[in-house]
Amino acid sequence: MLTGIHFLLTYKCTYECDHCFLYCSPDASGTFTLSQIKDVLADADKIGTIEWIYFEGGEPFLYFPLMVEGIRLAKQHGFKVGVVTNCYWATDPESATLWLRALRELEIDDLSMSDDPFHYEGDDISPAQKAVLGAQSIGMDCDTICIEAPAVLTKSGIEIAKGAPVISGSARFRGRAVEKLTAGLPTRPIDSFVTCPYEELEKPERVHLDNTGNVHICQGISMGNMWDIPLSELIDRYAALQHPITGPLVAGGPTRLAQSYPVRLEGNFVDECHYCFAVRSALRTQFPELLGPPLVYGVV
Ligand code: SF4
Repeated sequence: MLTGIHFLLTYKCTYECDHCFLYCSPDASGTFTLSQIKDVLADADKIGTIEWIYFEGGEPFLYFPLMVEGIRLAKQHGFKVGVVTNCYWATDPESATLWLRALRELEIDDLSMSDDPFHYEGDDISPAQKAVLGAQSIGMDCDTICIEAPAVLTKSGIEIAKGAPVISGSARFRGRAVEKLTAGLPTRPIDSFVTCPYEELEKPERVHLDNTGNVHICQGISMGNMWDIPLSELIDRYAALQHPITGPLVAGGPTRLAQSYPVRLEGNFVDECHYCFAVRSALRTQFPELLGPPLVYGVV
């Protein structure tokens, strides 16, 4: 059951992280208009099962007034609201409260702040920790998210460069993570990727929306364009097995997706997402409405 709608408010970000599966960067541009946000929220009401609205990116604080108004409207519709941020704005705890007070007044339900070496490597306390101190000083709850770099785990749990093919860490090998994080990791044969391990493709619990209209089931796999067909109708019509990309993925994972068209790729692949992303990249121009936007595939 679909319970969450996540606005990718923008692909623009202050950082260009190695693990980013959307290829966000300072060079990306664009955001939603206020009227588009209003339309989506009205349509979310029609779906009838939505509980949560998230604002994320990219970095949603780059469009702070728009994000704040989006939160206000989402609360007005009766949804719970979450925000995910890299905390670039938290220059010190007291200054962070200037940003946080607006969110506290709107009674947001989840504030998740990225705090890991992908987002900050300095000696000082991280922006996220400054934001946490700021939030605590005004009695506001918040959480931090830590993405660990992938490494190979041995049976004893000691991380080494090469060894047993068990990969630790929560980074997913899609988008820029494929380019930046897969080197040196063990690989598997292409006929072994027969499931999608991380997404409920048949019954998605949440979708991500971008300002070009894509309704992402997994990053870069779209149900269709909500500026052409209303979101509630796309959700209603979606049948994973009939979708040209999720159909094969549900039936037999990335291996089946490659066999279905067919796509023949050179090289080795670390896991399901790595092979899936490579196969989808090869199919992107064949299914431009369903595999996009190009930026998410590293194409600008
Ligand atoms: S296998 Fe493909 S569809 Fe499934 S989570 Fe990985 S990238 Fe997404």
